[in-house]
Amino acid sequence: MKSVNPFMERRHRMVREQISGRGLRDPKVLDAMQRVAREAFVPEHLRDFAYADQPLPIGEGQTISQPYIVAAMTEALGLKGGENVLEIGTGSGYAAAVLAHIAREVHSVERIAELANRARKLLQLLGYHTVHVVEGDGSLGWPEAAPYDAIVVTAEGPRIPPSLRAQLKPGGRLVMPVSEGPFEQVLLRLTRSADDGDHVEKICPVRFVPLIGAEGWSPTERSHAEFSPAGQPSL
Ligand code: SAM
Repeated sequence: MKSVNPFMERRHRMVREQISGRGLRDPKVLDAMQRVAREAFVPEHLRDFAYADQPLPIGEGQTISQPYIVAAMTEALGLKGGENVLEIGTGSGYAAAVLAHIAREVHSVERIAELANRARKLLQLLGYHTVHVVEGDGSLGWPEAAPYDAIVVTAEGPRIPPSLRAQLKPGGRLVMPVSEGPFEQVLLRLTRSADDGDHVEKICPVRFVPLIGAEGWSPTERSHAEFSPAGQPSL
């Protein structure tokens, strides 16, 4: 008798109902979401909720983002394949794995050592050899591997950090949640132009954990958890 992976069907359903069902269409993004075993990136006692339509706690006061948000941010980067991508906020490593199915190289920066080490080991174990996890303050980017075709920030800052903008190639896209007040955040996409006339668009309202760092918030300024824009606070 064939053994059946119980998570496969849940993953198919998640992509069908939460991702394409909400209007995301990029085949590369849908395919990547279909390939990454999200259950490997959530704590063992929460595996049954791996495909739920919400973020989940991963320890250290941090979260793995809601599947829809990971897909929406990836689609907003406009990746064609073969890019050099920077992610700020490795967390569990899940979004980095999704990006790795499309991009050539993924550099991912995490400020909490425990999370960076755990994600690095897991991504290696799962064979994601094009993802490079480093510990540090990602509000300053990662100049060592710049310039980038695309940058995604998975934590909310007071503004787009100038260091990140500087590490983008002309024509490159940066997607990031930015504060619009004490309880409001909006997902922004900046497209860098060759001169100073960048193009900035608002994508949708969101709620993320804070970007703590030199070009983000100070550790005492912000303390909130992420929740699904489509549902109720989960944390
Ligand atoms: N992308 C992650 C995933 O797939 O699991 C979710 C990331 S979680 C919503 C945001 C992460 O950003 C947290 O792990 C947090 O520690 C990290 N973070 C906050 N400020 C940071 C900074 N300045 N540099 C790097 N990481 C930061």
